[in-house]
Amino acid sequence: MLDLLLPQRCVVCGLRGTQFCAACLVRLPRIEPPLCERCGTPTAWPVRRCRECSGRRLAFASARASVHYDDAVRAFVAAWKERAVRRLAASAVAVVIEVVPPPRADIVTFVPPDPDRGLRRGHHPPRQLAERLAEHWALPLAAPLRRRAAKRQRGLSRAERRRNVSGVFTAKGPVPNAVVLVDDVYTSGATANAAASAMRKAGARRVEIVTFARVVR
Ligand SMILES: [Zn+2]
Ligand SMILES: [Zn+2]
Repeated sequence: MLDLLLPQRCVVCGLRGTQFCAACLVRLPRIEPPLCERCGTPTAWPVRRCRECSGRRLAFASARASVHYDDAVRAFVAAWKERAVRRLAASAVAVVIEVVPPPRADIVTFVPPDPDRGLRRGHHPPRQLAERLAEHWALPLAAPLRRRAAKRQRGLSRAERRRNVSGVFTAKGPVPNAVVLVDDVYTSGATANAAASAMRKAGARRVEIVTFARVVR
């Protein structure tokens, strides 16, 4: 709503007359192969596990993202979370479709908002992304995950993030065999992993993570 009242400016470069300009869309830093087959981090050559994910017990089969979480993408995601800007959702979906191969799955779902925060905003980017991707991939959208409140992930170390999110998700089963789990940003993978783990407990055998952006170390 508020959107209509504000003068439109590109959320990344400030260009007037648009919420997100065509030049910034072209410049979003796409993630290109070779990748770690498992966690999707860019690598020098294709590997099955990489330094980032080897030795970790992962509940998901693979994770794929469309862009590096750099400063431009950070500004984009912040604006998308803050305001229900339709053009941002559409642009994010377009880039995911361009970069991430269509998954084979029974359902598409999304990481639900933290009950303390997301709902107050009234819109939830991961849900928007999942809805549009499900439509594009011609897969049903489902919402089996529940989330209880936890401390913010921001500012926590990787080990702390893992502890903080473990057990915050439950899934209402039975969840079908193959699930695509959508989120906006893959940071340490802790959230995706905890959510995937809940769905595995509720019957899913294979969970693939798809995010708009990914932190690349
Ligand atoms: Zn721009
Ligand atoms: Zn990896």
